[in-house]
Amino acid sequence: MQQQKKIKISAVVGTRPEAIKMAPLLQGLSAVPSIETHLISTGQHHSQLEQVFSFFELTPDVDLKLMKKNQSLNDIAYKAIKGMDRLLEQADPDLLLVQGDTTTAFAGALAAFNRQTPVGHVEAGLRSGDLMNPYPEEANRKLISAIATLNFAPTYVARNHLLSEGIPPSTIVTTGNTVVDALYSITSKVTDLPEEVSRAITNHNRVILVTAHRRESWGKPLADICAAINELVYLFNDVEVVFPIHKNPKVRDVVFNSIVEHKRIHIIEPLNYFDFISTMKHSSLVLSDSGGVQEEAPTFGVPVLVLRKTTERPEALTVNLSNIVGTNTEKIVKQASKILGDTQRAAQIAKSGNPFGDGRASKRIIKAILAWSNGKVPYLNEDESFVYAELETSDG
Ligand code: UDP
Repeated sequence: MQQQKKIKISAVVGTRPEAIKMAPLLQGLSAVPSIETHLISTGQHHSQLEQVFSFFELTPDVDLKLMKKNQSLNDIAYKAIKGMDRLLEQADPDLLLVQGDTTTAFAGALAAFNRQTPVGHVEAGLRSGDLMNPYPEEANRKLISAIATLNFAPTYVARNHLLSEGIPPSTIVTTGNTVVDALYSITSKVTDLPEEVSRAITNHNRVILVTAHRRESWGKPLADICAAINELVYLFNDVEVVFPIHKNPKVRDVVFNSIVEHKRIHIIEPLNYFDFISTMKHSSLVLSDSGGVQEEAPTFGVPVLVLRKTTERPEALTVNLSNIVGTNTEKIVKQASKILGDTQRAAQIAKSGNPFGDGRASKRIIKAILAWSNGKVPYLNEDESFVYAELETSDG
């Protein structure tokens, strides 16, 4: 009997969040006998990416090692397209999976499109409505949507953005975000605060977890965020700030020059994924400009103040799980004080569940890929799609 030809799927990742969000999908795909996977790393953010690969036991088949000091977005894009072109020629996949909105994702998608290799976009349809915020991610996502064959929208909000841009409905599958799958794969093991954090803080004090590294915040906005942190530890004497600081020197210089020395402010190296999630679970408040963190915190009912002008993740705002505060010192302090002073609200938030996913996004994506490869439409039935009960779910 003739053996059935395997579906060859390549996936490309270049940064920490892409690897975290692609990991559960790759694990699921590699368990399907009719699928063969091939993982490409562009190494856009090298050290933080390595940490995730080792945590999820992923070994890239190829590493383009693109990370160099002070390179421009065009340097990364040019090198990624060139490298991806060569790899796609060698691997000749039936589908290239890209995740999110980085230069790696866009360059990978364009390289595949130019070779007429179908592109599957994981986390498709997020939109802030402002091309310069987040920059360059908003443009990257829109560009990928224009050339993708399969659009894996995490929520109905994302799906509706794609529909309003004229993306054919048959190519869109509403899956939930794979970041929640990654989280669910570890939550039962997350118990205590990581050793490194619990050693630094006083028992029973409340934790504010901070991450801030976005390009739009480099310089004064980041200094203003730091000023708010300085103020919060003076206003609340039972609060400890844990700030795992990004490796980028443009971030480090500002933070080290703006944060005061204080025994309840802990600037630490980036935590590994497990320790970061453990810290998040035990936090009373998260201040962050990260996309992934906005999607993770609702699982633990931890409120998030978004340190950005806009967000492409309004799902949590709609159900009061997060709030946009930007980078203005006064506004951050005011909103954080409100949350820290209202323990009832925190209990209420904890009941809302996660509007970004239910831990089954990868399963839905795999089912849709198999249907697509067999020419079966729709790729996923409506009643199998991800729906968050608390939100309106019209097809727009
Ligand atoms: N994260 C981590 N260690 C840290 C800070 C964040 O593992 O010290 C994880 C976090 O759980 C989330 C992801 O990194 O899944 C977010 O990455 P980042 O903020 O770099 O990117 P963004 O989400 O803004 O694209």
